[in-house]
Amino acid sequence: MPALCRDCGAEPGEVPACPDCRGRRIIRHPELFALHIAHIDCDAFFASVEKRDRPELAARPVIVGGGVRGVVTAACYVARIHGVRSAMPMFKALAACPDAVVIRPDLAKYAAVGRQIRSMMERLTPLVQPLSIDEAALDLAGTEALHGAPPAAVLARFARDVEREVGVTVSVGLAGNRLLAKIAAGRDKPRGFCVIGAEAAALLAPEPVRLLPGIGPALARKLAGLGITRLAHLQALDDRTARARLGDDGPPLVRRARGEDCRRVDPIRETKSISAETTFEADICERAALERQLWRMAEKLAGRLRGEDFAAGGVVLKLKTASFVQRTRSRQFAAPTRLPDLLFEAARAMLIREADGTAFRLIGIGAQPLLPGHLADQPDLADPSAPRRVAAQAAIDALRARFGVRAVRRGRGL
Ligand SMILES: [Mg+2]
Repeated sequence: MPALCRDCGAEPGEVPACPDCRGRRIIRHPELFALHIAHIDCDAFFASVEKRDRPELAARPVIVGGGVRGVVTAACYVARIHGVRSAMPMFKALAACPDAVVIRPDLAKYAAVGRQIRSMMERLTPLVQPLSIDEAALDLAGTEALHGAPPAAVLARFARDVEREVGVTVSVGLAGNRLLAKIAAGRDKPRGFCVIGAEAAALLAPEPVRLLPGIGPALARKLAGLGITRLAHLQALDDRTARARLGDDGPPLVRRARGEDCRRVDPIRETKSISAETTFEADICERAALERQLWRMAEKLAGRLRGEDFAAGGVVLKLKTASFVQRTRSRQFAAPTRLPDLLFEAARAMLIREADGTAFRLIGIGAQPLLPGHLADQPDLADPSAPRRVAAQAAIDALRARFGVRAVRRGRGL
């Protein structure tokens, strides 16, 4: 069976240790050298970056999050052994792991490290589709001549290069499509390398439905109500039954449960920045009028962040004076958000200093850095109104989806 030593790239035979380097991290799979779709995901990314920068913490449990009253944004694997999980309230995390070192997130730093890893990926293939700050899908079809090695060997070398050059570890999934590559990347963390080939459907069958990306708690509950708890139960449904029981989403869900996925790796989909700006019909110098424009832009920005499932780690305020001089000011959030009120308040604090009677012709607000949507507006125990605000915004979005953007105008927008 094809085999590859992840430590030195040798192709050993049926031996437990690599004859070249004595390494024991050997991958074997019948399709090892034929598959070319990869999913790469950094391990405990934020916590790994902090450990890299403070080597004395290497063996300690590290939690990245918003102080004693906040929540866990990321936890290293040592902390996870003690039961610490992302989005857990900090007091619970510290009860489970009292020795943990808690570090405030430095989102701009993580974004810079993410970009460094991204540019290393782009040396492997032009087909890199970033999926979040620390995750991407890659298609290495046709790159064997360029690299003088099959995709599996190129990916193993990439993982070693990232460890050496960047100082964090990644997990690699290699498969025949994006769905299976993503599932593979999650199966062997941290520092993993997992291959899924023709055995996909059999491998998925005994797994709980929640394993499938896109099945969240609500859908899992609905499926459980229909007696569907394992992927095997979905795999068994024919198209007609799937549609009758689950609606139009049924048949695609069944195909995914079987490990089928025809999405391409699409590098164009990378979103580098999300912002909203407006040029005024007549120059504006009054602060109140500028704030009204800013609120409209903050609402627009928030909608775009939700639509593309991103969170803002901070905001950039952009102003252009009547004489075309551009001013940009930026500010970081303690916790990522996509709520218009918070985006507005942060930008307004910067606007107040700029609105000194200068006439402006343009105002804009942007999200910087862009972070994965799941980090947005995590429950914050220090701010008991946060869940209510998130729920209120979700209700507004639902109404607008049905009746159009103008159906719901909020106070400041009027
Ligand atoms: Mg990750």
